[in-house]
Amino acid sequence: MISNRIKVEVENKRLEMYPKLIIDTKKYRENIIKIQSKLKEQGMSMALITKCIMANPKVYEKMDDLDLLYFGDSRLQNLERLAHLKTKKMLIRIPMPSEIDDLLKYADVSLESEISTIRLIEERASKKHQIILMVDLGDLREGFYDRQELMQAVDEVVKMKCVELIGIGVNLTCYGALIPTPEKLNELVEVAEEIRGKYNLELPIVSGGNSSTFDLVENNTVPKGITNLRIGEAALFGTESAYGKKIPWLHHDVFTLEAELIELKIKDSVPVGKIGFNAFKEHPVFEDRGKHLRGIVGLGRQDIGDDIYAKDSGIHVLGSSSDHLILDMQDSKKEYQVGDVISFDVHYTSVLRAMISPFVEVEIL
Ligand SMILES: *Cc1c(COP(=O)(O)O)cnc(C)c1O
Repeated sequence: MISNRIKVEVENKRLEMYPKLIIDTKKYRENIIKIQSKLKEQGMSMALITKCIMANPKVYEKMDDLDLLYFGDSRLQNLERLAHLKTKKMLIRIPMPSEIDDLLKYADVSLESEISTIRLIEERASKKHQIILMVDLGDLREGFYDRQELMQAVDEVVKMKCVELIGIGVNLTCYGALIPTPEKLNELVEVAEEIRGKYNLELPIVSGGNSSTFDLVENNTVPKGITNLRIGEAALFGTESAYGKKIPWLHHDVFTLEAELIELKIKDSVPVGKIGFNAFKEHPVFEDRGKHLRGIVGLGRQDIGDDIYAKDSGIHVLGSSSDHLILDMQDSKKEYQVGDVISFDVHYTSVLRAMISPFVEVEIL
């Protein structure tokens, strides 16, 4: 690896910067295309959710030609980063009343659950703004919980001039860990039917959730009448999020995180002395493996979460503090030295933090 670094230095006239998150946009694109066509087969459109990687414009410029229904993000600042792209934008977190002007500027459509906020949109809009009303089917995050309140909101919205109701939606498995079932999603289809019947509306969008609905897609059991999904995780990581299963026909290695070894020593596996709380007021438990080879890489909880795994199967992540990630390297067949670069597989939380951390370089392939 040292020789590798010298090569890089000669070629680029500078040292590589670590830690570094590498995004393979070719694999990501292939995942998106495969999911999009799978959903299409089952009568659904796809909103691609961009929030996990802060809507990185260099990445989404490469996806702008895919005819996705929307790029969706929870933050207007992220949608602003995509403003130059032709794909329509969807705000997927209920807007703050204080950000309505930016909403109208950066989003074509938004998910809504408060009539007072929708009234504000109607008041401030000078052109059409489309909305999707969220229905809470029991996950207890966002959405109308009381059906009567929902119907009253519809009643008012259909009379508005700028606000246009184009659909209803549900979010599951985010807070209450409620798993999507055909029965649950049928409740949403029934609500859509009721609204269509009563108001003579087309209501084209019935948005049946996020990557946690993907297990139903795999089993071809999404109820007829669900016309859209909002997909982040499945395209980024090749996993569904109801059970955490890998989707076998997708790439699982869009992301690689590389970090540099800053210490390598034989130490005990259990702290020596009286044990109290760690830096995060947690009571850690240690397995006694005797003396063993331990490494530290220059990464920490500011940059990553717990879902980080060394690609070398002989290296195990032991834990981390704000700026240090500690590794058990005893079982590795490779001989490492300080300065070597260790590669990691990373999942949702680690990628999210790495993208936000100003200390992590991002390389886009
Ligand atoms: C984050 C989010 C999604 C996407 O979730 P994934 O599990 O990443 O597919 C969809 N809808 C809403 C409302 C969200 O907040």
